[in-house]
Amino acid sequence: MTSADTVRDGLVVIFHYTLRDSEGTVLDASGNDPMPYLHGANNIVPGLERQLVGRSVGDRITAEVQPEDGYGVYDDGMVLTVPRDAFPPGADIQVGMSFLMNTDDGDRPVWVTAVEPSMITVDGNHPMAGRVLHFEIEVIGLREPTADEQAHGHPHGLDGTHSHGH
Ligand code: ZN
Repeated sequence: MTSADTVRDGLVVIFHYTLRDSEGTVLDASGNDPMPYLHGANNIVPGLERQLVGRSVGDRITAEVQPEDGYGVYDDGMVLTVPRDAFPPGADIQVGMSFLMNTDDGDRPVWVTAVEPSMITVDGNHPMAGRVLHFEIEVIGLREPTADEQAHGHPHGLDGTHSHGH
């Protein structure tokens, strides 16, 4: 690869990120572990992916992403209260847990937001739904995917050799 390579569909991009909300609170950060993703494969939120197109290794950008291009607009209709006995007896259900729930649209992830003796509240909105996302990004690597990565639609670690059991 040459230094002229820039972010485009089909390349593995490796970056450092800090994610803040509109108040400046850090929600997430890559820390010592830069994150790889496969560009064009829906590995990251669309509003961020779009703003990385054409960037080169060494580029630092700030990207603001609206909820509709991020983790979605918050939808009250996706909050459900279900009887506790819908869960396996003795299951240790706690706030913050997520699991797949069977719905008319297939299996969807939901997050537990309240636990009461007889009722459990689950929320189908992503925990970051409704938030404007403020990313600081530094692109630190760009490479071709391996055949496995291409087939899976996601990277296997920074160098493509990380095995994760599938
Ligand atoms: Zn894989």
